[in-house]
Amino acid sequence: MSTSTQRYQAIDAAHHIHAFVDQKALNQEGPRVMVKGEGVYLWDSEGKQYLDGMSGLWCTNIGYGRRDLISAASQQMAQLSYYNMFFHTTHPAVNELSEKLFDLLPGHYSHVVYTNSGSEANEVLIRTVRRYWDVMGQPEKKIFIGRHNGYHGSTVGSASLGGMAFMHEMGGLPIPGVEHIGEPYWYAHGGELSPAAFGLKCAQELEARILALGADKVAAFVAEPFQGAGGMIFPPESYWPEIQRICRKYDVLLCADEVIGGFGRTGEWFAHQHFGFEPDTLSIAKGLTSGYVPMGGLVLSKRMADALVERGGVFAHGLTYSGHPVAAAVALANLNALDQEGIVTRTRNDTGPYLQKSLREVFDRHPLVGEIQGTGMVAALQFCEDKASRTRFANEADITWRCRTHGFEEGVIIRSTAGRMIMAPALVISHAQIDELIDKTRRAVDRTAAELGLL
Ligand code: PMP
Repeated sequence: MSTSTQRYQAIDAAHHIHAFVDQKALNQEGPRVMVKGEGVYLWDSEGKQYLDGMSGLWCTNIGYGRRDLISAASQQMAQLSYYNMFFHTTHPAVNELSEKLFDLLPGHYSHVVYTNSGSEANEVLIRTVRRYWDVMGQPEKKIFIGRHNGYHGSTVGSASLGGMAFMHEMGGLPIPGVEHIGEPYWYAHGGELSPAAFGLKCAQELEARILALGADKVAAFVAEPFQGAGGMIFPPESYWPEIQRICRKYDVLLCADEVIGGFGRTGEWFAHQHFGFEPDTLSIAKGLTSGYVPMGGLVLSKRMADALVERGGVFAHGLTYSGHPVAAAVALANLNALDQEGIVTRTRNDTGPYLQKSLREVFDRHPLVGEIQGTGMVAALQFCEDKASRTRFANEADITWRCRTHGFEEGVIIRSTAGRMIMAPALVISHAQIDELIDKTRRAVDRTAAELGLL
């Protein structure tokens, strides 16, 4: 191991608390030190190259090392490195970005509150939705309904909206006024029901909860169009139309967390367009800047924004870095490139279908894989002990973790969640690179299956 790797590992162990790991175990193992990225590839400090099948944390939609984004940042830093949107002020970079963003969004959205991250977007969501109902003369409409195994961020409010039980255990969450219903994870929870019947059943759980709480108390339903961190779980087709019907019927706002699904991931600009529903708010981040600099936001429908602007008075919220000029300039360069180079269109019509078809060809009959889900540049392989009965391994998280480790050894980064291996490569990936991604993933899955005596 090189001296620079050792040095960074020592500093890291001395000073860092990492995300979602046992710190002591990580310190003993020593983290990988990533030093360079170009396109869909990464290099670590030992010179090993990886195909990044996760585009960072499903955020580098345009790939690493784009010169146009780099020069957008440096030009903006030279021109106006910082200013804010307080003090009755605005600036060109944020306006140019918003013009482009609302060109790309469906026409019934009109306003955005910029943030630095997805978690912050969902924090802003809680206060903004409650404010909206205040302004509408229904201040008792305060409760949010989220879903078990949903993920909306790591801060107090966003982690409360999420339904990760192990996260709730840290810090005494959820906050009051947040409820959770079941997730539309057919493979795990569908039992004998068809996917369509199960999708309806899950959606109708929302209706039952609204009725139990009282529609006059429920402010919003918040969900990811497809669950990301929970395991890239795609709901049955029956789910979203029924959820939308229920939200409309009881005047409950429908809030889509597009932090992963936004900016081309599914082949549509936004994941709700893929599933065919119309949310009132969109939480965005990640692909907005392709991860080059932090930026997120909460997009509001015109109906909500009109109420807040015309009747809301002072909006008692502000972040130092909302609409940061450098982030805005980078986001604009990113959106222009995704649009003008036809990258999202290619994901929908060409590379997305190629990835999905190839995955199914390789894994449909694999003994370890019980289900393949995905669209565009996002996919999941469900591991199972027995395909016919959809039996999952009791220690599925250990097994997928092993597969992910084999992936690193094979030179591909794929992620493990409880029982699923997931991938979300950059949208700029080529056919040859998709072949490489799948080939290396197959080797990692085969090694895992062989260890289990399945191959
Ligand atoms: N929402 C979803 C759906 C996410 O996947 C994430 C992050 N993985 C977040 C919100 C939180 O975003 P951030 O990490 O930028 O705070």
